[in-house]
Amino acid sequence: MPSRFAGRRNVIDRLVHLYRIGDLGQSYLFLGPEGSGKELTALEVARLINCPTPDACADIPNCESCLKAVTFQHPDIRWIGPAPASTGEADTTRLFAAKQEDPFHQPAWASSSEVLIGDPDRPAPLTVRSILQFLRVKPFQGTTKVAVVADAHRLRSGAANAFLKVLEEPPSDALILLLSSVRSGVLPTIQSRCQRIPFGPYTEQELAALLGELYDLDADHAATLARRGGGNARRAARLRLPLARVLSAWGQQLIQSVHEDRCGTAMLAAEALHKGVLPGGLVERINEDGGAGTPLRNSPVKELAEKRERAILLCEILHLIYSEIMGCRVRGDDWRPAQPADAPWIASLAADRSPESLLRDIGSLERVRRDIERNLNIGLVTAVLFQELSRHAREDRTTLV
Ligand SMILES: [Zn+2]
Repeated sequence: MPSRFAGRRNVIDRLVHLYRIGDLGQSYLFLGPEGSGKELTALEVARLINCPTPDACADIPNCESCLKAVTFQHPDIRWIGPAPASTGEADTTRLFAAKQEDPFHQPAWASSSEVLIGDPDRPAPLTVRSILQFLRVKPFQGTTKVAVVADAHRLRSGAANAFLKVLEEPPSDALILLLSSVRSGVLPTIQSRCQRIPFGPYTEQELAALLGELYDLDADHAATLARRGGGNARRAARLRLPLARVLSAWGQQLIQSVHEDRCGTAMLAAEALHKGVLPGGLVERINEDGGAGTPLRNSPVKELAEKRERAILLCEILHLIYSEIMGCRVRGDDWRPAQPADAPWIASLAADRSPESLLRDIGSLERVRRDIERNLNIGLVTAVLFQELSRHAREDRTTLV
């Protein structure tokens, strides 16, 4: 288990310093791409400003307050984020246990849910009203109530308006940290009440060091993941897990069949995604290889959220592979592959493709990912995707021959 939250040092130091000199603002908007450490930074700030012995706990949580903070049990620190309406205490406990185990953990439902307002009398744990209730009470153990709202661009409109009221008049002993990767998705009225702190993607070196430390990886493995993660720590962390490894192998097979114009194979894949089925042979192979994470079950998933999660992750992985093909095509000899072992395969595909057409592939993938997040039919949108990818490759073959 990681012993501490690993956030962005410069922001943590700055906010903790402002707190110590009595100059900390009341609400901040952390704005930066997905996987840029916003949440870890917010949780680390929350821990440090509530710690009674900050010198002893600077790097490792040593006191009772810090131990509660890192286990999501601190009474004065509260995290909310997108979650389905049915999310109850037990789901929340499971979520926090998983986040404690892996700070980059994201539940299957995260990418297609919204931050909900919650019931007026008995708000569910991850809703806006639950955090408003929390902020109404004086700090219980620490000095400052810290409310962390992940994916603030996913606040449903009623929820955003309810939240706006507390931003207009925040309690004096509260710190509100809103996190978002989509600036245009956060209401301007909310943005204007917050001080904005920009987050950039991790550099490859920072990311490799972070992954190595968090997951105890050897340097080569951490460096490969960091390169594939492209500055996104959440994605890089996820790529080491069995599901992503199965989807990576599957993604390679799919791209190969698309380039060989074996569209039937890709259509079967769309159907499998719709049904929540993974290729059995690949699951067995990856499970036998071992490595991080729980082995995958070789049976269909029933939950729609889980099917969506898989389809979105497959889109991300295909996006990574097409970006590699593009990199190889455009940079030629200067191209540095993310995974050297795949270099010959990538180069052979790149030879038959034009940059314009590869851009269209990448555009199709981005659109389909958004469609799946918007809850469109997985089988349908991925079938259209594979047809488009095949068509682009076919057009290149006819024009480049
Ligand atoms: Zn402490």
